[in-house]
Amino acid sequence: MAARQYFAPNSVDEALQVIGRHGRIGVVAGGTDAVVGHRSGKSPLADAIVGIHRLQDLNGIKVANDGGLCIGALTSYASLLSSNEVLERYTALADASAIVGSCATRNVGTLGGNIVNASPAMDTGAPLLVFDAVTELRSQARTRQLPIAELWTGPGQSVVADDELLVSVTLPSLPPQSGSAYLRLEYRRAMEIAVVGVAVQITLGADGVVAAASIALAAVGPTCFLVDAAGNAIVGRSLDESSTAEAAAAAADAARPISDNRASENYRRQMVSVVTGRAIQVAAARAAGRTVNIPASQRWREATQ
Ligand SMILES: Cc1cc2nc3c(=O)[nH]c(=O)nc-3n(C[C@H](O)[C@H](O)[C@H](O)COP(=O)(O)OP(=O)(O)OC[C@H]3O[C@@H](n4cnc5c(N)ncnc54)[C@H](O)[C@@H]3O)c2cc1C
Repeated sequence: MAARQYFAPNSVDEALQVIGRHGRIGVVAGGTDAVVGHRSGKSPLADAIVGIHRLQDLNGIKVANDGGLCIGALTSYASLLSSNEVLERYTALADASAIVGSCATRNVGTLGGNIVNASPAMDTGAPLLVFDAVTELRSQARTRQLPIAELWTGPGQSVVADDELLVSVTLPSLPPQSGSAYLRLEYRRAMEIAVVGVAVQITLGADGVVAAASIALAAVGPTCFLVDAAGNAIVGRSLDESSTAEAAAAAADAARPISDNRASENYRRQMVSVVTGRAIQVAAARAAGRTVNIPASQRWREATQ
């Protein structure tokens, strides 16, 4: 068997040249999906590999001119969790980052890797959807911006071309009185895959009525996806039992879960309703300025104190 070729470029241009030269090359960032997938035989690595861990331009979090955030694709979960901007303004992404794998996974795994791996149960997908994230993809020939909602096409599939690198993810700025949450239904408290995941982003108007809302689901369809009908069910209304129940029912209605050894289709659909209701409550409380340490954030804070 021929030896595998390995490249570790120091710049994005160099990386894109290497990728452009090879027809099929495996991009490895943190390797927590790629290497594990190879070892298990599920997705063998290509004969040529490019390690992108040295690309400092792809690492870090910057506040954009409009007050939004630009997050490099190589940014780890640990870095996301050490950002006050993420914790305080894009809290659903912090909720998600805090529950990915173990401490080791969060130190090595990257946001870009989670996105391109395109698992329907990925934890950052629903938060990025409710924040209307825009990805930047680069190849030697072009740079393009693509809304995250257009990126995934099915389980493990995306429109990221073989010669492209995901460079960054931009989160548009949020109006005042905005709050968000990501809740994951899980059977154990660590190293878990979402049975159901729900992200909610809410902006309250001066009168306390919901001015804008966005709700997205994970692990209950071929990709993470937005449910416009669920968000619309609470816009222009006060958050009470009835409006929350309508949004939760719309989310459950839109879910397309499968049955597997972790949960039946029916159980997942019912839990979408329950978890959506809870995520709305947490997002609304945060939008009103209250600190709510849902288990995810709580665990992260406890672990780092
Ligand atoms: C023990 C364990 C626990 C885990 N727990 C969770 C969990 O709770 N929630 C969760 O969502 N995930 C979890 N994961 C999955 C994994 O950790 C995440 O998806 C992680 O973010 C992947 O990032 P990475 O940098 O390691 O990606 P890699 O493994 O390096 O790459 C993943 C895929 O993305 C491609 N890729 C990576 N970066 C780029 C880029 N910039 N441009 C183009 N293509 C790129 C690679 O080619 C590969 O196909 C877990 C994994 C392990 C091993």
